[in-house]
Amino acid sequence: MSDIDKYEDAELQEGQQERQEDEYEDICYICRRPESKAGKMIRIPNAICICADCMQKTFDSMNQPGFPMGDMGNLGNMPNISMINLSDLQNMMPKTQKLKKKKPKAKQKEEKKSEPVLDIKSIPAPHKIKASMDEYVVGQEYAKKVMSVAVYNHYKRVTCDSQDGVEIEKSNMLMLGPTGSGKTYMVKTLAKLLDVPLAIADATSLTEAGYIGDDIESVVSKLLAAADNDVERAEHGIIFIDEIDKIAKKRTTNQRDVSGESVQQGMLKLLEGAQIEVPVGANSKNAMVPLATVDTRNILFICGGAFPDLEDVIKERLNKQSSMGFHADLKDKYDKEENLLQRVEVEDVRKYGMIPEFLGRLPVIFALDALTEDMLVRILTEPKSAIVKQYQKLLSMDEVKLEFEQGALHAIARKAKKKDVGARALRAIIEEFMLDIMYEIPKDDNIGMVTITEDYIENKGGPVIHMRGCSTLSEPVAAGV
Ligand code: ADP
Repeated sequence: MSDIDKYEDAELQEGQQERQEDEYEDICYICRRPESKAGKMIRIPNAICICADCMQKTFDSMNQPGFPMGDMGNLGNMPNISMINLSDLQNMMPKTQKLKKKKPKAKQKEEKKSEPVLDIKSIPAPHKIKASMDEYVVGQEYAKKVMSVAVYNHYKRVTCDSQDGVEIEKSNMLMLGPTGSGKTYMVKTLAKLLDVPLAIADATSLTEAGYIGDDIESVVSKLLAAADNDVERAEHGIIFIDEIDKIAKKRTTNQRDVSGESVQQGMLKLLEGAQIEVPVGANSKNAMVPLATVDTRNILFICGGAFPDLEDVIKERLNKQSSMGFHADLKDKYDKEENLLQRVEVEDVRKYGMIPEFLGRLPVIFALDALTEDMLVRILTEPKSAIVKQYQKLLSMDEVKLEFEQGALHAIARKAKKKDVGARALRAIIEEFMLDIMYEIPKDDNIGMVTITEDYIENKGGPVIHMRGCSTLSEPVAAGV
């Protein structure tokens, strides 16, 4: 490459970088507000921008009596000018704290004609959403159906206009299900399928503004980060708040409930739709962080929680209903029912400690099924990137075929079920047994196939090894097996 080519190349790269930078808004160095809020910026050398207000304030303070104006030739001696080197600040500003520019109205209209941000025609119909989810999520048929319809309606609402006076309500969701039953996984899958930004927050860390912990509004800030600081994209995103049961009203307390009921109260306007000023690229507002205004009206909120002991509340209600009249049932009728959570009603969750206003803003309530042994076996093998498929792929790179006996899969599922952490235990268990295999197999090029047996999982025997081009050899691979 000649020198001229190199020079042109460097110029091209510089141009691209500038164009990329151009997509971000300028931020005032003094008040940290973006251009969309503070108005046109005054640019001074070293790519520093100052808003008109701050510039005016600076001039005003210079005009104050007592300001050392007699020494104008020596500005460097002025205390309030030489104290801050603005160009140092320039380099302090991380990219994560820059806001993407909103497109100018004219351009927006133009784009709307050709390619709207969200087109109802581009959002798959509920049955298609569910079919795509089926590829990743095993079972949970009811939950998948409810979610597909709710999401479809939500995005219909976002794209429709309410000129005829009919306003479609938001379809925020409350998802109940024991730990490891796939709540987070389902939301993640949904966001991926719809190609919208997703923020996952934990309700346990949230506290009322002003107390130690994360501000409630920090969840919106997370979404903005997930959307690459693009406010428009964030406004169509999904926020998943996990462990929502942890902010239930505390039953016996005389103190101020800063992380329970107050958080629920604080979330109300967020769930319904409000203009929220959020810090860009940080968890809390402070003088150094620029702020962005995000409208939460079209953000879909999904809250999830395990709600331990909610079954007792449901049982109590059901018993009460069925213990009256001539057809009264036995008191322990519901004691053995596995999926009691499926019978949840708003009233039960309210009794649990969620306030009615909060529940009113989460109109879609549903529960996931508890994972059975069969479902765990299917989770091991069926999803697109099931754990078993992952190991098979890994070993196929060594040209070794990996197989699991049906009994072995059930043994793994049984072990996982005992741990009571849902499908999350599967990976840990399988990893423990695969360690020796993954260590020993690549040692011997003659091994062509490995079959994991039930005995191996039950610690009663070893896996079956098949050598290339020979008959089956049953031999334990690893020491200690
Ligand atoms: P939760 O949020 O309910 O505590 P997760 O969503 O984190 O549980 O689930 C843990 C893991 O279990 C997920 O990463 C996923 O791989 C697996 N999993 C759970 N349920 C299913 C399911 N129905 N289908 C496929 N995988 C599942």
